[in-house]
Amino acid sequence: MKVLITAGPTREAIDPIRFISNRSTGKMGYALACAAVEKGHQVTLVSGPVALTPPEGLARFVSVVSAAEMSEAVKRAFPECDLAIMCAAVADYRPKTVSLQKMKKKDGDFVLELERTEDILKTLGSLKKTGQILTGFAAETENLEQSALDKLKRKNLDWIAANQVMDGQAFGSDRNALILFSAKGEKVIIPLMSKIEAARKIIEVFVS
Ligand code: C5P
Repeated sequence: MKVLITAGPTREAIDPIRFISNRSTGKMGYALACAAVEKGHQVTLVSGPVALTPPEGLARFVSVVSAAEMSEAVKRAFPECDLAIMCAAVADYRPKTVSLQKMKKKDGDFVLELERTEDILKTLGSLKKTGQILTGFAAETENLEQSALDKLKRKNLDWIAANQVMDGQAFGSDRNALILFSAKGEKVIIPLMSKIEAARKIIEVFVS
């Protein structure tokens, strides 16, 4: 199978030296890429800025920084793929204007205006062709199941992997616990285990 995976955070520039980002380390996405390569799939990994070495055996590795760059890379690769796993923590907002020079501090408060980025996964949901499997991740701090099921529907996904973000679990951790929900109503519980073990189970479920 041709598998497209996104991993890591995105960075949205404020000026040449500052950006908005999030706590994603890319570990889950890289583990998924590893597990998919192990199973003999042809894997394209689109990664935001992380401190990880890309797994060996990838068909393609694309390094991106911003949500806009990630969107471009993913939309180029998507028509060719059989399974897409969107695991990246893409920024939902970016600064409306990017200062070309370093912004100087001034007295008093500073308000930064943000605009929405494209929801890449939602776009793919509208482009999905018969036979393509589209999956995403949902990191939530509350109402895990309901939020995940809402996203599954709203983004026209086949599967969503939901994980509770609390007490350092998920982001940056080497272990993860997830619940997979399918559009057909299936529910698969993946108890706390290493991200590579979890990734192997997730790949097995998504291609079954
Ligand atoms: O709605 P939310 O951002 O929580 O959805 C998470 C899922 O959507 C993840 O799979 C993430 O990779 C994807 N996503 C995306 N583009 C965005 C925001 C989220 O592909 N701009």
